[in-house]
Amino acid sequence: MAAIITGADSGIGRATAVALARRGHDIGITYSRDEDGAKATAEEVRSHDRQAEVRHLDLAQSADVQRTIDALDDALSGVDVLVNNAGTGTSTPFLDIELADWRDVLAVNLTGAFLAAQAAARHMVGRGRGGRIVNVTSVHEHVPLDGATPYVVAKHGLGGLTKCMALELAEHGITVNSVAPGEIATPMTGQEDEDPREQQRPGVPVGRPGDAREVADLIAYLTSPAAGYTTGGSYVIDGGMLLMAAQANQLAMG
Ligand code: NAD
Repeated sequence: MAAIITGADSGIGRATAVALARRGHDIGITYSRDEDGAKATAEEVRSHDRQAEVRHLDLAQSADVQRTIDALDDALSGVDVLVNNAGTGTSTPFLDIELADWRDVLAVNLTGAFLAAQAAARHMVGRGRGGRIVNVTSVHEHVPLDGATPYVVAKHGLGGLTKCMALELAEHGITVNSVAPGEIATPMTGQEDEDPREQQRPGVPVGRPGDAREVADLIAYLTSPAAGYTTGGSYVIDGGMLLMAAQANQLAMG
């Protein structure tokens, strides 16, 4: 079995690469900037006696996506699992968003994920042994965030893409699901060196940020044979963050 994980040079992507290697998958790793990070992930995969293949992929360069997935499929003798993990965002008020930033965030989070999934699914269908696709979205697949319009729109779109692919690929034995994290301690949230269990988040029921390995374990379940009847869903992993809306006003009033 082989899995391709985009953006596996750090954070949730790296944790997922290691979790799937532990479960017996060979791993295709893509990175955009951090080659050393990607090599470190590969070393960890190999320490579990699995094959690791590293490729550069800037998802904003649409023309490169299919080529990279095809190359990894070939190097790994067939992709069984794709995890569309790579993502990026901006922090700009709606009134000030530049078209170039809008395009970049949608290109990486949505168009890149579409192209990667289509390329991987074509290989899966061609081989006829089914497959698993997991799209890493966000709680912002479901609720908005101030100052993050392109990210929120892209993640909502990725949720829609998940459902469309689930519908059309089921007959080929391919399941497609989203994993929607809340705050996870990774470079994206500036917490890569911190233990999330030591941090307080009183606004979240579980009271702390999540650990990338907790997200990786959910992804690993969704890619396992046990999850064959699970498709088209969005699995929120947020320590209960999305349950807090009704209490927001009460908390603000003190
Ligand atoms: P991270 O910074 O460790 O990982 C982001 C990954 O995206 C990196 O590996 C990077 O190489 C890749 N990437 C960025 N721009 C790219 C581009 N142009 N082309 C290709 N790859 C690119 O952060 P993370 O938290 O592990 O993020 C992984 C995923 O989880 C993202 O999709 C993110 O939106 C999502 N997410 C994270 C959190 C969180 O709190 N950390 C919450 C919700 C969703």
